[in-house]
Amino acid sequence: MKANIQQRTEYVGTFTKATGEARTMRFTTSETNLQKRGLITVYDVENRGLRKFNLSTLIGMIAAVAPATGLFFATELRESRTMKDTLQFILAGNALFTVENAETGNRFTFKVRKPDDDKPHFVSVLTGADNEHDYSFLGTVFDGSRFRHGRKSRIAPTAPSARAFEWLLRRLSLRNDLPDQVRVCHCGKCGRCGKTLTVPESVDSGFGPECIKHLRGE
Ligand SMILES: [Zn+2]
Repeated sequence: MKANIQQRTEYVGTFTKATGEARTMRFTTSETNLQKRGLITVYDVENRGLRKFNLSTLIGMIAAVAPATGLFFATELRESRTMKDTLQFILAGNALFTVENAETGNRFTFKVRKPDDDKPHFVSVLTGADNEHDYSFLGTVFDGSRFRHGRKSRIAPTAPSARAFEWLLRRLSLRNDLPDQVRVCHCGKCGRCGKTLTVPESVDSGFGPECIKHLRGE
């Protein structure tokens, strides 16, 4: 008999969406998957179909359901390194961030820099093992919303990274929510000045105390 069969437990999760709205869902998964914050499949009552959610993108409470006796433990999920306002972060002048799609497994790290007020934003993507230096120019963002692929870019406009950036910017510019399986995380650096974020509120917003004041116009 194979020993690698994972015990699956039924859970109930109450998750809070970015809009503040709470949803309760039942799902079964293994404890290992729960710990590594993997994908769960739930039946979406509203849309009448199965949907996949990445536990690492959800905030809320999860409880295991014991047969007959009801709930027997609860665990709290806390979102980390996603920013309150993703578009504001991306366009703040010195942004470094990772976009992940839990469904496809795609993951790209982008830099979006605006050297001064008169210049557009320049986008580059991590293409090598050295995450300090191995960035390749991808294109330019005009007026904070129009992405144009760089003619001098050595990355094809049809490359998954180029399409991912274009899609992300368009979606955020139109103020559309990102699908649940897509997650945008900062890398622990302020989106405006690039300094390391240490205060919990700064990690939540993606901006250091001085930069957030500046962005609020204080
Ligand atoms: Zn800063």
